[in-house]
Amino acid sequence: MQLTLTGTLDTDNDTLTWAARDYGDTIHHRPNAVLRPGDPTDISTVVRYAHLHGVPVVPRGAGHSTGGQSQAPGGIVIDMTCLSTIHEIGFDRVVVDAGARWSDIVRATLPHGLTPPVLTDYLELTVGGTLSVGGLGGASHHHGAQTDHVLALDVVTPTGELISCNPHENRELFVAVRAGRGRNGIITRATLRLIPAPETVVWHKLRYDAIDELVADQRLLVTTDAFNYVEGQLKVRGGRFVAELEAVSFAGSRSGQLTDLHPQDGETDTVTYWDFVNRLTTAEPLLREAGLWDSPHPWCNVIVPDKAAEEVLRGLGGKLGSTLYSDFGLVLAYPLRADRITTPLLRLPHDRLVFLIAALRYAPTDAPDIVAAMEQANDALIAVARQAGGTLYLDPL
Ligand SMILES: Cc1cc2nc3c(=O)[nH]c(=O)nc-3n(C[C@H](O)[C@H](O)[C@H](O)COP(=O)(O)OP(=O)(O)OC[C@H]3O[C@@H](n4cnc5c(N)ncnc54)[C@H](O)[C@@H]3O)c2cc1C
Repeated sequence: MQLTLTGTLDTDNDTLTWAARDYGDTIHHRPNAVLRPGDPTDISTVVRYAHLHGVPVVPRGAGHSTGGQSQAPGGIVIDMTCLSTIHEIGFDRVVVDAGARWSDIVRATLPHGLTPPVLTDYLELTVGGTLSVGGLGGASHHHGAQTDHVLALDVVTPTGELISCNPHENRELFVAVRAGRGRNGIITRATLRLIPAPETVVWHKLRYDAIDELVADQRLLVTTDAFNYVEGQLKVRGGRFVAELEAVSFAGSRSGQLTDLHPQDGETDTVTYWDFVNRLTTAEPLLREAGLWDSPHPWCNVIVPDKAAEEVLRGLGGKLGSTLYSDFGLVLAYPLRADRITTPLLRLPHDRLVFLIAALRYAPTDAPDIVAAMEQANDALIAVARQAGGTLYLDPL
């Protein structure tokens, strides 16, 4: 194909192999080409060409999907990380290219005393990648999803037009693209809301013997809004089942009172805000050393109504030892207040509170039986969640 581009359209074997792999490493679809755009006009040019010729085009951020969402079988993958400039930081907003990683944004905004209101647990994801799914984290019970804090977007539409949209201008496109999983348009630039960042945070990790007590305390914390961040996880460590609640208060904001909670034990640390939000960088080298970073990750994310939380988690908790395989796997589980999430395409169960449940499984390389067992466990989780009126989060379209 003859296209005038400032970037490149690559078809070499290494590039196509790279684009056929994601963090999940269980689905591998090779594209026919990878666009490394020099500017948003390149994206327009390629999307227009692809639209005319019926070629699938899929944007790829950091490639941290686990179900082939950023792959384009026989089509064109657009490597969005080529456009990652942070353009402007104002007193309440930042303007960034969609390929920027959240870690770069926080590094740039913190010197101004500012932060995005919601951050994912892992910051090496791109703005376009998380805005195309929602972007949930421990602050979501209060602030909703990352998609709820978008002030404006520049988007290349599926026919190749480059259009600006916001809640008032081209609203339909603004609605279709947030949590649109890259299929309703490609975000090239985003204006994101910022709020004051604390310098330090007080970080409690509370341990429970029983899932019901963990869930009861999580419910209490998010309904009283006493903490800035609430998460929780189930895991097996050294052969022992652990249910843990994380509650974090930012210096000078919420009350952060632990009264009326019923943990068995726990610990409290005070750390800088950056060390807290960037906490998963310490896990990555450990996983690499254990050979579990580049291996298959059959992950599964569901959102279930409040009334089903204990039952679904008890079902998962009883089988954790066999279905997580290693000491690195875990099940994240924490409540969100549904009224705080206003993104129309982020589908939630009908309930006042909903629980995000994420089975994060790490399989070793060359162990298809373990991967198959994990996928079976995921199918069972999805069936139970659906039965309870739950929805899937991050599912491929
Ligand atoms: C270690 C780890 C931790 C995670 N933690 C969290 C968490 O705490 N909270 C949470 O909500 N999620 C979490 N996730 C999931 C993650 O948010 C999603 O998988 C996200 O989509 C990945 O972003 P990415 O930049 O890697 O995008 P990719 O995987 O490259 O792409 C994801 C989807 O976004 C589309 N896309 C990419 N760029 C654009 C764009 N510019 N415009 C439109 N669509 C685009 C792709 O086509 C694809 O459909 C985590 C994933 C990992 C691997």
